[in-house]
Amino acid sequence: VRAKAVVFDLFGTVVGDATSEDATRVYAEMGAALSADPDDLRRLWLETYPGRVAGGFATVEENVAFVCERLGLSAGRASIERAAAARAAFIERMMTPRPDAAATLEAVRETGRRVGLLSNCTPEVPPRWPATGIAHLFDATVFSSEVGLRKPDRRIFELASDRVGLPPGACVYVADGDHGELAAAEALGMRSVCVRYPGFDPSVRLAPEDWPGPTISSLREVLPLLD
Ligand SMILES: [Mg+2]
Repeated sequence: VRAKAVVFDLFGTVVGDATSEDATRVYAEMGAALSADPDDLRRLWLETYPGRVAGGFATVEENVAFVCERLGLSAGRASIERAAAARAAFIERMMTPRPDAAATLEAVRETGRRVGLLSNCTPEVPPRWPATGIAHLFDATVFSSEVGLRKPDRRIFELASDRVGLPPGACVYVADGDHGELAAAEALGMRSVCVRYPGFDPSVRLAPEDWPGPTISSLREVLPLLD
């Protein structure tokens, strides 16, 4: 592969991901804020995932209010804001860059390649992206919540290719593999590399992807795969 660009997934790839403990904690915190049963909340929260990541809710507060309505709860503005704040703190904990992220991104850039980000994310993510400290290492970003599309939709991969300014055939896509994203990138003509870190827990994933192609266990291992 002589890749001219590398497009990275965000969660579980260049930053952290939810652990089952942390997910349990956030549903408990949101449930406490809203006087809701955490299991009911979790079920509705997962049901609204497709809309949440594809721009269906302008803010997390809107998403929380919708879920409360569906659960028959009459939560006030302050309760909704407390639940949204618990969510935001959870997202911020996940948005810590992987230990070798900055060095790997810099190394990719030093070879003259372009770097893109393609994330299925909620509305809390784009405003918090600059604070990760690695945003300046990306030439282009595509956040699903902003563009109203989500992976594995072919069109969001086309958008990532357009924004890095290179055809899909010149791009390598690196992701931990959720919702068929690795297969979708390859179907468009990108080459996909799966990254799975030690301790990868498929049970916290909505739809983990089995990937028969190249798989790495640290981000820097992508470098020799680009030539
Ligand atoms: Mg991911």
